[in-house]
Amino acid sequence: MDIITKAPRGTADKLPSEIYKWHTVQSAAASIAETYGCREIKTPTFEHTELFQRGVGDTTDVVQKEMYTFNDKKGRSITLRPEGTAGVVRAALENGLLNEALPLKLYYFTNCFRYEAPQSGRLREFNQFGVEVFGADSPIADAELICMVNDIFEFLQLKGIKLEINSIGCPKCRAKYYDALKEYYRQYEEQLCDTCKERLERNPMRLLDCKSEICSSFAKNAPSILDYLCEDCADHFATVKSTLDSMNISYTVNPRIVRGLDYYTNTVFEFVADNCGTQGTVCGGGRYNGLVEEIGGKSVSGLGFAMGIERLLMVMDAENCPYDPPKECDLYIAGTDPNSSAYAAGLVRQLRKFGFRAESDVVGRSLKAQMKYADKINARFSMVIGENEINSKTAQLKNMKTGEKLNVSIGDNFAEKINSILMDIE
Ligand code: ATP
Ligand code: MG
Repeated sequence: MDIITKAPRGTADKLPSEIYKWHTVQSAAASIAETYGCREIKTPTFEHTELFQRGVGDTTDVVQKEMYTFNDKKGRSITLRPEGTAGVVRAALENGLLNEALPLKLYYFTNCFRYEAPQSGRLREFNQFGVEVFGADSPIADAELICMVNDIFEFLQLKGIKLEINSIGCPKCRAKYYDALKEYYRQYEEQLCDTCKERLERNPMRLLDCKSEICSSFAKNAPSILDYLCEDCADHFATVKSTLDSMNISYTVNPRIVRGLDYYTNTVFEFVADNCGTQGTVCGGGRYNGLVEEIGGKSVSGLGFAMGIERLLMVMDAENCPYDPPKECDLYIAGTDPNSSAYAAGLVRQLRKFGFRAESDVVGRSLKAQMKYADKINARFSMVIGENEINSKTAQLKNMKTGEKLNVSIGDNFAEKINSILMDIE
């Protein structure tokens, strides 16, 4: 059996050779979110199953088909988080965060678990960067949130990505719209996929989001929610659009965007890449004014988005976007014999305390093999320590790129000296 040497289907290792891409995206996302006043939150990987049934909604694909749910040893039903919002709302309520100054603005990086058919851009464990904002009722908050995503993509120099927005109104305007939708879909009832047949009565808006070929073809001519918005919701949407205009952010209105999760109200949006087919949605979000109350809190408005990091990296790779270069070894210090290698280890320690990436031999290699290794790890500088160097307290610092050599004292303040030399070179 090769089962222990194969990762489970739908999972992917993030290898050291590509981790710099993750670091690029994470540091951009976190630092931009912080410029908007967001603070980081971390919540548990698993929660009580009921939280997601409530917080995601039990007419959604996620809850109906995709959750990793199991009973723990005490027989409690536990679910690996399929998304980040429900856990963040639960944590905010449980820890009284909503009693602090509002708006409360939070961001997170989190792994999510969904039992889906694995394919490019669709995994069973994937990662999201998400932001949730509570207590910001103004439509300017919706535009600001969208602007944040736009800033992140702009910073990452992503170009082939388009913003689509919609408003799905409030429960008041949706009542009439649901009737119109049901009437429209009833003529095709026999032909709908099984899931949609079931959802038609309970949550007909879900049908617009179905990915089956037949259902998505019916969605094209379905009634538009925009024709059913009440005055308040229409005003809200108009201000979102005019704020986006004044922020110079381009978008298209797509009345078929409903988002996969329940409890969205008013604004919903997606950022879709041109070249990734049905896995092109890199980021989705919107306003969910009903959610906090649904999970047991007082009525506090909320809005947020989640960005799939694997999908983002796919699109960035396809567009050849630049990444922060991987950090490599600053200085490799070789020893000509065991005694010199021990001395080199002392020097390396001083460099590390100073923040340098420094290495010396821990394998017991010959000098030649050590230099080969220094080459392989792309060390920027190298130095060889032997009896002469130890006695004279001087060694040669070699620039591995140019071959240039420089005498350096390896006595007191060694790391400071190296620091000022490298600063000069840069
Ligand atoms: P899709 O319509 O592609 O199934 P979704 O509506 O289920 O997406 P959300 O729940 O809104 O997705 O999650 C936000 C983002 O997380 C998506 O836009 C996508 O980038 C990413 N994502 C969702 N599911 C997966 C998955 N199975 N594998 C990788 N990324 C995913
Ligand atoms: Mg999905």
